[in-house]
Amino acid sequence: MTPKIARFLVEQHPAAPCLVFDLERLEGNFRTLRSALPLAEIYYAVKANPAPPVLERLVSLGSSFDAASFEEIEACLAAGAQPRAISYGNTVKKAAAIRAAHAAGVDLFAFDSAEELRKLAENAPGARVYCRVSVANEGAEWPLARKFGADLALARELMLSAASFGLDPCGLSFHVGSQQTRTDTYEAAIGRVAMLFTDLMEAGLDLRLFNLGGGFPVRYRDAVPEIDAFAAAIMLAMTRHFGNALPGMLIEPGRFLSADAGVVASEVVLVSRRLRNDPLRWVYLDVGRFGGLAETENEAIRYRITTEHDGGPEGPVAIAGPTCDGADVLYQRTPYRLPLALSAGDRVLLHAAGAYVTTYASQCFNGFAPLAEYYL
Ligand SMILES: *Cc1c(COP(=O)(O)O)cnc(C)c1O
Repeated sequence: MTPKIARFLVEQHPAAPCLVFDLERLEGNFRTLRSALPLAEIYYAVKANPAPPVLERLVSLGSSFDAASFEEIEACLAAGAQPRAISYGNTVKKAAAIRAAHAAGVDLFAFDSAEELRKLAENAPGARVYCRVSVANEGAEWPLARKFGADLALARELMLSAASFGLDPCGLSFHVGSQQTRTDTYEAAIGRVAMLFTDLMEAGLDLRLFNLGGGFPVRYRDAVPEIDAFAAAIMLAMTRHFGNALPGMLIEPGRFLSADAGVVASEVVLVSRRLRNDPLRWVYLDVGRFGGLAETENEAIRYRITTEHDGGPEGPVAIAGPTCDGADVLYQRTPYRLPLALSAGDRVLLHAAGAYVTTYASQCFNGFAPLAEYYL
């Protein structure tokens, strides 16, 4: 937690649940990443946190944007982004959304199927397009491989046919999965996609753009490798494959930029034992799976949780949200321990919760409003 957030929580004591977000930390993360990978253009993955103050700060830093919908494109434009600095990176788009984006000046689109390529040809004639290639997601705590990406043979065929559709096939992309904890997964993905890249260049395509996607991890409960380790592995793999003829590199970080800039403040609603003398207590918070903590599905993202009683004796807990839905459990298998003194009305903090939280909140399921947001 940053000093600014700590001060705000003490001085303002905002009603829970809420997200408190430090824009200076976002800026620090952006600068750290830019100096770790100076040759890569940064396209912030808007879905991680699309709040206007976040987008505006990133525009002021010279960031570009990876948008998943026309609505996200509008949010970027409203924050002052140039349409040319926006990539429409979702491989699944409505024709009307493609048309609207193209009319707004967006000129860079992703695809991973012949059907989507045809839609792009019809609705964004002449646009630059890149094919998303499927890669292994080993080591990702939030994998994306099952749903997206063309295999090498299909990607090759689609890229070679794009020009005959009147499009400009300009590059390739991949995504190693979110919260990727292994540097060698990037190396393997680069090796696989670089081979196709070179092969397509030899076949006569004018490829300029090598999109490494996002995935850079942040520290939740467990330590992860530093960003410099990812940068070193990436640059080593890139120079191994391309030598001095590096293509234009592009990265799409989401979590790495916004997660550790935010803290969710929550209130304990109930601490109970569901069996008499059970050592396990159930801690029910006022924010859960439907209040924005969607990434606790399968206990994939394990937030670090602190309380005002830390340092005292602890015991094992299961942690759940406040709704009447049985799926609204955050952690039951993952061993969590919280202070024995914890009781209803206490504040708890979930750290590094600035990404993939606010927009995942439901529309008042069980009557609970989405969490409030403060940008400092
Ligand atoms: C979600 C997403 C990202 C961002 O991933 P992070 O793990 O948050 O960095 C980048 N690119 C694409 C295409 C995505 O879908």
